[in-house]
Amino acid sequence: MTSKEKRFFVTLLTIMAVAILSGSVLISLKTRNENREAARTTASSENRDTDSQASSSDTAPSVTENTPESQSSSETVPSSADTQPEDTIPQTAETSPPTESATVQPEPTETQQASVLPVPPGPSQGKAVQALSWITEAYLEPNEYSRPQIPLTQVNNIVIHWVANPGSTAEGNREYFENLKTNEKIKVSSHYIIGPEGEILSIVPTNEVAYCNYPRNNDTVSIENCHPDWDGKFNDKTYGALIRLSAYLCEQYGLPADALIRHHDVSGKDCPKYYVEHPEAWEQLKEDVRAYMQTHPDIINEMP
Ligand SMILES: [Zn+2]
Repeated sequence: MTSKEKRFFVTLLTIMAVAILSGSVLISLKTRNENREAARTTASSENRDTDSQASSSDTAPSVTENTPESQSSSETVPSSADTQPEDTIPQTAETSPPTESATVQPEPTETQQASVLPVPPGPSQGKAVQALSWITEAYLEPNEYSRPQIPLTQVNNIVIHWVANPGSTAEGNREYFENLKTNEKIKVSSHYIIGPEGEILSIVPTNEVAYCNYPRNNDTVSIENCHPDWDGKFNDKTYGALIRLSAYLCEQYGLPADALIRHHDVSGKDCPKYYVEHPEAWEQLKEDVRAYMQTHPDIINEMP
């Protein structure tokens, strides 16, 4: 072999060696990039799983992570551009199930509510609503002046009153009784107040004593009635509600209509004024209660 030939072979070998070396370098670089991409994808998919609800905020940081890398090498730019659509598409596709499941989740709650809601208006609550529909519970705050919470263990009479305040409302009279707790001067109250619109407020529970019929507070239930004028005659709505409530109470306690008495019959007071001054009107009132009881024998369970 000539020296010329030798030199040729050496050069050829060098070229081959350089070619092999550079080739392996390129391959290793490529693998490194691929690995990095793979790592990034898993990282972002891990993020997705962790808080799937904040999907948009998840995508944002992974993009920002890509940005510095894409600036560093020209190769990463297309790869990150490739990753972005791929990432974003499956991500939104994968995110939509959680969103769906999020919309599915309220549905069971709705169905739960739907299955719960129809139950109360059924037989259990319906009866209570009927019973309360024409009597409004507006109990006074317990206090020694108007609601002492002394147990009322027996009821022998229903006592009828006038409020002696023309034009006042049931609510206004209730307020008066409520404020006695702060005035701390007199002790007075009633179980019921009937207003000018026929509204009935129950302000002291009937298993508690009300201060209205001294000295018979311990075995009576009392009804205060509003009236438009000083003559003390109840208007038609108040009167109608009084007949109904009286009949209801008489039936509840197993009392006859004659168990209805005036405050006047307890203490001689001029109360209820019109029905003290007009005994025939008082007799008629009791007669109306009697008739109502006869035509409504099941008033306790009746619809309004
Ligand atoms: Zn009275």
